[in-house]
Amino acid sequence: MGEFDLIARYFKRPARRAALGVGDDCALLQPSPGTQLAISSDMLVAGRHFFAAVNPRTLGHKALAVNLSDLAACGAQPLAFTLALSLPGVDEAWLAAFSAGLFALADAHDCELIGGDTTAGPLNICITVFGEVPVVNRQSQALLRSGAQPGDDLYVSGTLGDARLALDALLGKISVSADVLAQARVRLECPTPRVALGLALRGIANAAIDVSDGLIGDLGHILECSAVGAELNADCAASLIATSACLERAGAKFGNELTQDQRRTLTLCGGDDYELLFTAPPSQRSAVDAAAQTSQTPVTRIGRIEAETGLRLVDGQGARLPPAYASFDHFA
Ligand code: ADP
Ligand code: MG
Repeated sequence: MGEFDLIARYFKRPARRAALGVGDDCALLQPSPGTQLAISSDMLVAGRHFFAAVNPRTLGHKALAVNLSDLAACGAQPLAFTLALSLPGVDEAWLAAFSAGLFALADAHDCELIGGDTTAGPLNICITVFGEVPVVNRQSQALLRSGAQPGDDLYVSGTLGDARLALDALLGKISVSADVLAQARVRLECPTPRVALGLALRGIANAAIDVSDGLIGDLGHILECSAVGAELNADCAASLIATSACLERAGAKFGNELTQDQRRTLTLCGGDDYELLFTAPPSQRSAVDAAAQTSQTPVTRIGRIEAETGLRLVDGQGARLPPAYASFDHFA
């Protein structure tokens, strides 16, 4: 099968919203009047971002999910994406599964594949997504990293640390039971981009970012871009490992119950969660709750933004944790 047959069979579908989709030199996309385009790219490299032998269906899902997560963090409505694919060879079973996983998520978000590039080479997937954000009174409604204000509450969506737990288990750094691994692995291989929450937070949140590199690292970007500091309740964050209950049950059996330190490290420093981390003024608490409700996405308040720069970690009782802990990383 040649390059063009491959594209036609696995990636070309009739254009829907795009003015022109796959098949010409450029795709044509017409953003809605009164909107800005939000654009983001993410590349996934075999051996670095995923195991080459990973299930191709979940890989197709994840390649798009990590990109949609960036749109979510901006409060952008997904429109379309391009796919640049480097493949070691033509494996039709792999391509069928990869494109099925990719299109299932794309269809769920009404996000259309409008073009790309296909070449032979080491397995590598690069997606660029396009979304739109309204402009109201000449003011972009995009959520940015730079908008956090002293006094803002700090929130995170969903769960934290499970993806890292799965990675460590797959790398043999920690041994967990099969059911714990299965549950954590879904978070690693099949993350849920929080698009509905991002949209619901427009006009409510002052700043947002998606958690791809770990809570502390990504919070650091908000703090730096907004020139503020924060107090973060490490144990509140540490309670957000979804697999923890399951792990505790398995812990007795495996003798490897997570210590408080491991729990903090997984949730504060682990990556690949693709949750939204955002700030909003206390006056918006009920609006944040409503946004969580409408988007059916749990959110947890884990700290607050302060004028004094730097990150201060406290434990569940509010006692200050050593500052070194903030930069502490078992896995570095
Ligand atoms: P060109 O040589 O003009 O860059 P190509 O021959 O690479 O065009 O691609 C032909 C058409 O197929 C283009 O419309 C391109 O956007 C599309 N395309 C190529 N690879 C992919 C892919 N992996 N997924 C979707 N569309 C693709
Ligand atoms: Mg080309």
